[in-house]
Amino acid sequence: MTTLIYCFRDDLRLHDNPALTAACQQADYLLPLHVSPLPQTTRWGFARVSARRSAFRHSALQGLATALQQQGSGLLHASGSLASVLPALASQIDATAIYCEDIATPEEQDELAALRACGLAVHSHWQSTLLARDSLPWADAQLPDQFTRFRQQVEAAAIQPAAPLPPPSLPPLPPAARQLIQPLAAMDYPAVDPRSSFPFPDAAFAGSEAAALAHLAQYLQRGLPHSYKATRNGLHGIDYSSKLSPWLACGSLSARLVLQQLHAFETEHGHSDSSYWLWFELLWRDYFKLLQRQHGRRLYHPGGLPQRASPPHNPAAFQRWMAGQTGHALIDAGMRELATTGYLGNRMRQIAASYLIHELQCDWRAGAAWFEACLLDYDCSQNQGNWLYLAGLGTDPRGGRRFNPDKQAAEYDADGHYRQLWSQP
Ligand SMILES: Cc1cc2nc3c(=O)[nH]c(=O)nc-3n(C[C@H](O)[C@H](O)[C@H](O)COP(=O)(O)OP(=O)(O)OC[C@H]3O[C@@H](n4cnc5c(N)ncnc54)[C@H](O)[C@@H]3O)c2cc1C
Repeated sequence: MTTLIYCFRDDLRLHDNPALTAACQQADYLLPLHVSPLPQTTRWGFARVSARRSAFRHSALQGLATALQQQGSGLLHASGSLASVLPALASQIDATAIYCEDIATPEEQDELAALRACGLAVHSHWQSTLLARDSLPWADAQLPDQFTRFRQQVEAAAIQPAAPLPPPSLPPLPPAARQLIQPLAAMDYPAVDPRSSFPFPDAAFAGSEAAALAHLAQYLQRGLPHSYKATRNGLHGIDYSSKLSPWLACGSLSARLVLQQLHAFETEHGHSDSSYWLWFELLWRDYFKLLQRQHGRRLYHPGGLPQRASPPHNPAAFQRWMAGQTGHALIDAGMRELATTGYLGNRMRQIAASYLIHELQCDWRAGAAWFEACLLDYDCSQNQGNWLYLAGLGTDPRGGRRFNPDKQAAEYDADGHYRQLWSQP
């Protein structure tokens, strides 16, 4: 009898989860596990994960535990590092191997290396991009150095993702693990701010797979892909962009499923430049994940990929930026929205990040750390890739993006509604 452990990471779902499906196919008994890291403080002096982001992840885990129970399985919750939990657990239940998704970021790679160093057999599967790596016409190290070249080559070769997998049948829990499974400890969720563009913890915006699938379904049913391109740079409201990112980031939604359903929508309701643009943006997501694979730790150099000198920093200005007290009404509105709700639209992220880097002359890594703490959709590869891009230390062919905040306010908040909405914390 084969006993395996499936360790959920940023793939908190049953649908389209090839690593989980492989574990289910190999196991007679399977223990689903999630290990939450212990709280940490960043070198910039604030908690690495905000209460709101912890709560969103908690709601995703609750949804996962419920879905597993409905199949007669369950989810074991632990906290610490993987290496502090798994060796003893594997020996306690006689598990012969650990299955999990592969994540290219350095800390997540280190976690698996530490498990292997303990003598555990770890099978990790790459599964979080739309496009399978072996469908691409280049090896990891030869990824095109600009997004446009990447997209053009993908489109010229008509590369498409494989169809998403259905949820697998879960093998029973190992007998020795049954008494270990306890409900997830309750957590107080912060209140919803009525101004929020992603109003978690309203039930429709909970982190679970069920909420993610329902959100995607209503987004398509309401025909919103046909207005996406025109509205995606909005600053306020639920519908101006897809709002899929928090679920994609914790993995309660698979990008391949999104694309499959988008294609079904286009077959029924027609293809438009606007619906195409969702694919275009999802390709950015793939690009940053593949860039992480290509460059590994080099993406974390203070001077980015060109390994320039460390950037300047101004701690007092950084504090004012985080607190929404720079004195620039648009920037302050954005920073208040971020801290209060955990969400910020793409345009406002760009404007706020550019302001920190180019106007306040602060270290982009401090800004990236604040986004990490706050964003419900925090995804290390996306955050790092976007910050480096804006700082001109990544793969931007124009060598960085400096946004004029007054021009941006005039273009994207001409009536001042957004600045007024967030004029108070
Ligand atoms: C400084 C900065 C930091 C960012 N940090 C993150 C992060 O931690 N996690 C994250 O998911 N996104 C991040 N983004 C990218 C982008 O802002 C969000 O993905 C998007 O705003 C999420 O809202 P949405 O799902 O409604 O997006 P939509 O506009 O509806 O886009 C659909 C999907 O396309 C992908 N996408 C869109 N824009 C980008 C982009 N610029 N880069 C990569 N993928 C994109 C996302 O998966 C998104 O869910 C960051 C952008 C900037 C400028």
